[in-house]
Amino acid sequence: MRALAKLAPAPGLEMIEAPVPEPGPTDVLIRVKRTSICGTDVHIHQWDSWAQQTIKPPMIIGHEFVGEVVAKGDQVVEVDVGDLVDGEGHITCGQCRNCHAGRRHLCNDTKGVGVNRDGAFADYLCIPATNVVKVDPDIPLDVLSCFDPLGNATHAALQWDLVGEDVLITGAGPIGCMAAAIARKSAARHVVITDVNPDRLAIADSMGAITTVDVRNASLADVQKSLGMKEGFDIGLEMSGNPVALRDMIANMAHGGRISLLGIMPGEAAIDWNKVVFNMLTLRGIYGREIYETWYKMTALIQAGLDISPVISHRLNCTDFAYGFELMASGKSGKIILDWEEGG
Ligand code: NAD
Ligand code: ZN
Repeated sequence: MRALAKLAPAPGLEMIEAPVPEPGPTDVLIRVKRTSICGTDVHIHQWDSWAQQTIKPPMIIGHEFVGEVVAKGDQVVEVDVGDLVDGEGHITCGQCRNCHAGRRHLCNDTKGVGVNRDGAFADYLCIPATNVVKVDPDIPLDVLSCFDPLGNATHAALQWDLVGEDVLITGAGPIGCMAAAIARKSAARHVVITDVNPDRLAIADSMGAITTVDVRNASLADVQKSLGMKEGFDIGLEMSGNPVALRDMIANMAHGGRISLLGIMPGEAAIDWNKVVFNMLTLRGIYGREIYETWYKMTALIQAGLDISPVISHRLNCTDFAYGFELMASGKSGKIILDWEEGG
């Protein structure tokens, strides 16, 4: 089979011929139809310090996908051959206290598909049946291949009751844009999203009824005034990974405001803790998705008309992966879909 792999501890990726994996008794073999490129894949491609510490080549990368079950182990009852499926990319240990309590998203020893074990950028992927999610075949394949990041956006946004609230999202990357659409769909009052990249803000703008702010030339205080807001934002979703954006968010929250922290900050990013204390803010770290409550919620949101398709900017054949990674690194794209059916 074709597979996109990191072969050596150095920048780059190669399309290789690899053996089709053999499913064990509790595994499922999936014929991959579409994948999408995540920021994590770009880090692995560029071989930055995180990748150097985390990735053990040779390894097939990728974790955002949709595909069809083509074989399964003899103990698998959850899915059948022919089912259209996604996969939860965090394989939980099953042994820790949280796993035992059914709180798998809080597992203290997860293994990442395409990070700690072979991934989905291939014609076939083999994962445990416990990580396979049956999906609604009426949802377009391109959208289904983005369910992993849509899950990050959903999990971060739905931590809080959004109805009637003023929501600030920092970072209009794919996840920030999807979170903005979720906040809109969840009957938030004002939804404001910030970025420093006009291409990204243009995507957010096309999602409809969202106030976009380029923080290089506008202040959140002025935006509040122009929207008739008086006391600050009720909900913050930090989705930039930039400490400047987090500090700006904290300075613009209402007393009692609640913040989801999804963006991955460099090192020990500093904030004004007195603002957290005196303004009585709640900060919550968000990682991954809730297994499988988030999958349920985001499916229902899409079925109810949530449209994330404006976030998908490019659809490429998987053999054009190099162009896809170049586009991702340039910041001039939203989600990029790689098609594994054509020519496969
Ligand atoms: P992305 O890098 O595509 O988007 C981040 C955006 O933030 C970019 O458009 C960038 O221009 C913008 N930005 C930079 N500085 C800014 C500033 N000062 N103010 C406002 N915006 C600014 O990332 P993504 O794929 O959309 O993911 C969002 C974040 O979430 C990233 O930090 C990513 O690493 C992280 N992430 C976390 C999890 C998790 O489980 N916690 C999962 C996936 C992604
Ligand atoms: Zn565990």
